[in-house]
Amino acid sequence: MPPTATLEDIKAHQLKIEKGKITSDNLPPCPCCSVASEFFKIHAYRERRFLIIIEMLIKAAYCSLVRFICPGCGKTITHYPDFAIPHKHYTLPTITGFSTSYVESENMTYQQAVMVDNSVPGYPESDSTEAPTLAPSTIHRWVTTLGGFTQTCRTALILLLQENPVSSICRDLARLIIPQRKYKTENRKKQLDGCRQMLMIEAFFRSSFNTSIFTKLATRCGFS
Ligand SMILES: [Zn+2]
Repeated sequence: MPPTATLEDIKAHQLKIEKGKITSDNLPPCPCCSVASEFFKIHAYRERRFLIIIEMLIKAAYCSLVRFICPGCGKTITHYPDFAIPHKHYTLPTITGFSTSYVESENMTYQQAVMVDNSVPGYPESDSTEAPTLAPSTIHRWVTTLGGFTQTCRTALILLLQENPVSSICRDLARLIIPQRKYKTENRKKQLDGCRQMLMIEAFFRSSFNTSIFTKLATRCGFS
């Protein structure tokens, strides 16, 4: 089965919101004026539609996200649960799962990357407004997104080397190779490389700090 956040994960987040358990305490300080996050006020609740994959069917699940406002400058900052990233309806496990199988395989095409056990996750018939199945171009976009967390990766790398100066991570990153058949332009090569690096840094980060670079560190880096 393709990885996905579960309906329970999404319901649990909604319940936390309803019980007032989502606070700004874990957010980084305001990126504009450095006011500490504990002073942020709740600004709005925005309903978000997430897409999760249950038994090869793509289903919508809804929950709110909390948006905080900085009292210093009025900047609004969205709190993301660990299964979500900005501008994406699919959940982080799905995005990283499919992207990993594409970038870490030497020969896989995008058409093959959407396949799971010889079939492609699809939308139920009733949901006819959507594309009928997960599209290869979606995986292409996910790789682009994951390859774009340059600042987050750079910061994570610094933290990893502070924690373990003799870590093999720099050597391991330098060894990553993107097969030539996977790109036609230097720009795409850079995105593929960025995506592979991000996935490796995430794995090291999880084993060193027992947490993901998403979403606290990524939030602090403005998801860049
Ligand atoms: Zn501010």
